[in-house]
Amino acid sequence: MQLFNNQEIKIYNSLTGEKELFTPINDGYVGMYVCGPTVYSNVHLGNVRTFMSFDMVFRYLKHLGYKVRYVRNITDAGHLENDADVGEDRIAKKARLEEIEPMEVVQRYTVDFHNILNTFNFLPPSIEPTATGHIIEQIELIKTIIDNGFAYEVNGSVYFDVHKYNESNEYDILSRRKLEDLIHNTRELDGQSDKKNPQDFALWKKAEPTHIMRWPSPWSDGFPGWHLECTAMSTKYLGEQFDIHGGGMDLKFPHHECEIAQNQASKGKSPVNYWMHANMLIMNGKKMAKSTGNFILPTEIFTGDNPHITKAFAPSVARFFMLQAHYRSVLDFTNDGLLASEKGFYRLMDAIDSLDDIKTSASSNIDIDTWKQKCYDAMNDDFNSPILIANLFEAVKYINQLKEGKASISESDLETLKATIQTFVFDILGLVNVSKSETGTDKLSSAVELLIQLRQEARLNKDFATSDKIRDDLAEAGIQLNDGKDGTTFTTN
Ligand SMILES: [Zn+2]
Repeated sequence: MQLFNNQEIKIYNSLTGEKELFTPINDGYVGMYVCGPTVYSNVHLGNVRTFMSFDMVFRYLKHLGYKVRYVRNITDAGHLENDADVGEDRIAKKARLEEIEPMEVVQRYTVDFHNILNTFNFLPPSIEPTATGHIIEQIELIKTIIDNGFAYEVNGSVYFDVHKYNESNEYDILSRRKLEDLIHNTRELDGQSDKKNPQDFALWKKAEPTHIMRWPSPWSDGFPGWHLECTAMSTKYLGEQFDIHGGGMDLKFPHHECEIAQNQASKGKSPVNYWMHANMLIMNGKKMAKSTGNFILPTEIFTGDNPHITKAFAPSVARFFMLQAHYRSVLDFTNDGLLASEKGFYRLMDAIDSLDDIKTSASSNIDIDTWKQKCYDAMNDDFNSPILIANLFEAVKYINQLKEGKASISESDLETLKATIQTFVFDILGLVNVSKSETGTDKLSSAVELLIQLRQEARLNKDFATSDKIRDDLAEAGIQLNDGKDGTTFTTN
């Protein structure tokens, strides 16, 4: 195997439960598929975190020199409200509630999704296919699965025969949920269902007369089952077998288990060599949910307009905060956590800004090459961004010593230090160097805090002319000072 940049990567493979040396199928090339959003509402912060983890993986593999084809789909049809193939299509439901076309819903939330990801400085994937753009491929896939004896048609709908499949394959290979346990834990069919067994899942659903999103097929006018699109699109763009498949932990079952089953049933092959799952994002120690109010939209982080945070945070600060947790750990989103990350982020950026002022010496008293390899080692160990960030703070410490003349560095080592920081901070973690003064709220509040302090001093000196002038001039500029028993605060209008 060709090594890129001399680095060997180990990936935690959800399929085996072990960290494994990464060996791509085709030397030098990586095929990566990540399940994208169902575009029926604003993108959830938990999904942003999942996609951010894979953005980082994409960036690192590219940096090492792999030619990566990264496919992340858009689900714009077929995703029902309930995993048991019942309930309304999520997009159709939103369209009905808002009295617009389903494709208007798709357009609106696809644009929102891209806007949020751009704000967080994501790289676009290589291909972003949609389910509705691949109906023909999905119909062909169903035909093959029927021909191979793993699916059956009832009343215009087609279901995957999980029990039949499990006789010659393992339906629990990824999620380790034994079929016997699933049978035990699933409610009996209520007679309304066409399925032979409740564990079977839909490949094609016949559309009700009122269902707008429908396509002709050999079985009925209808729409594909949600699990099918990922198999159709990953096969089309990455081949029957490819290197990495990613997604959120919640997709392991049934979605990813079904993807494997569809591939085995149609091609006789396990599709993916390395399954990667990003863990959940919670808020204030609890599940994030709109219904309980324990919820924040990504845009509200940038505006500060949410009761769970005390101020606005720059997108790179929020990105830095999320990458300070390993992708396989649960991340608890809290105001205190964001505030701490903000401090750390600006400390890192201040150190980077001061790199240009550092004077070089004949020799260095730090082993830059060892430090640089430690940064790679962190990423090679299952993309361990928190360890990488700890190493970056080692560099901050050293830069500060250099500034104070307490350490020395040679010209070539300084070049290596600068280039390594550029690589890891900006190219791989994907942060953007925003200085504190560029974020309006910080700039404003520190200036006003200074004036409040001056006014306080004037009042203590009984210089009421000055203290009143400060208050009145601020009011004229649209900033109201409010004197309370805990001191003075300000509001803007
Ligand atoms: Zn998927």
